[in-house]
Amino acid sequence: MTSESGTGPPAGTAAGDISLSDLKHFETAGRLTIDLKALKENWRDLKAMSPHAETAAVVKANAYGLGLGNVVPALWEAGCRVFFVAILAEARRVRAIAPEAKIYVLDGLAPDAHHTYHLHNVRPVLGSLTEIETWSAHCRETGEKRAAAIHIDTGMNRLGLTAEEVEVLAGRPELFEHFRLSLVMSHLACADTPNHSLNAYQVALFDELRDKLPVAPASLANSAGTILGGPYTHDLVRPGVAIYGGRAVAGRPNPMRPVVRVEARVLRTRLAEAGTTVGYGAAQRLKRDTRMAILSVGYADGYFRAAGSTDAKPGGVVYFADHPAPIIGRVSMDLIAVDVTDVPNRYVNTGGYAELLGERFTVDDLADRAGTIGYEVLTSLGQRFHRICKDG
Ligand SMILES: *Cc1c(COP(=O)(O)O)cnc(C)c1O
Repeated sequence: MTSESGTGPPAGTAAGDISLSDLKHFETAGRLTIDLKALKENWRDLKAMSPHAETAAVVKANAYGLGLGNVVPALWEAGCRVFFVAILAEARRVRAIAPEAKIYVLDGLAPDAHHTYHLHNVRPVLGSLTEIETWSAHCRETGEKRAAAIHIDTGMNRLGLTAEEVEVLAGRPELFEHFRLSLVMSHLACADTPNHSLNAYQVALFDELRDKLPVAPASLANSAGTILGGPYTHDLVRPGVAIYGGRAVAGRPNPMRPVVRVEARVLRTRLAEAGTTVGYGAAQRLKRDTRMAILSVGYADGYFRAAGSTDAKPGGVVYFADHPAPIIGRVSMDLIAVDVTDVPNRYVNTGGYAELLGERFTVDDLADRAGTIGYEVLTSLGQRFHRICKDG
């Protein structure tokens, strides 16, 4: 365990004592390679898109599944100084890695949590009058003007102050005397769909409501808002998924570099006759005599069961060098079968690897086949891979 322990195993370590990075390749489900150079370049590209704003990084959910211990040092090196997490436990891990970072916790201030925020020098994103009163009172008692953000709801209807609550708050300026309002933020619901009418509505409402509060840096943009630019960027942008190579805006080419590569081991190859079926449920019947490779990854590793293939619907595709091999039948917990009939023999070797996710078949390609989004693919990547970070 490293110094960042306490909230779960550090990146690259399975629960228990054995680090997957100490295992031989045949002891794991495969390789998960995180390209830290691509990660840093993605962040720098996002920064270049909004030159007048500060560029933060959202690293909630263990940095979208890629490991806080891998991602935070790389982003710090790239120049990132502001990090957003969802929960306080994540903030403590970021604090252990980056002692100087500004860290915001999106979930806000739970009752009794203010001492923990104070102790770890973490900033709550205050989303209700009660939270603001609590933080203000805490800062008054300690005599320290600690920073916090205020979250205004402009259409998401989840967290944040309503328009009426902003009015009430505007009538209570004394609350702002004791703490430092370091950010006023809101969150876009539909920025992945640039033409959605809610986008312009949210920008207008955000600008109207934050005018009622003391002057403070403002932030609205997630990855999609950062890429759309213009009226969304304000003083600070909060990209998440785009840093990790995911597609933020639908219906246009993804400008980011892939960061994740997942490879499964080839356990064996075999021949199966036309007319037979493969795997649970006999979900797909072979149309031809088929050469198959059985691979070491399944839904327990985050390869979604919904990406299986049936007679009616094609599923995911894996790659042997540049040669595609479609999945046959259902995705099992630990295994998938792929059709390698058209792949030259020399690329398909027992003990070798097949690429499941990478440049050819991306995180978003898998998401599309499985009826989900790249975010869910990233945050579902399992703990049985040998995780490797490369930098350049
Ligand atoms: C997750 C999140 C982000 C980042 O969103 P992406 O779409 O991953 O860029 C930004 N702001 C808030 C409030 C979030 O919850």
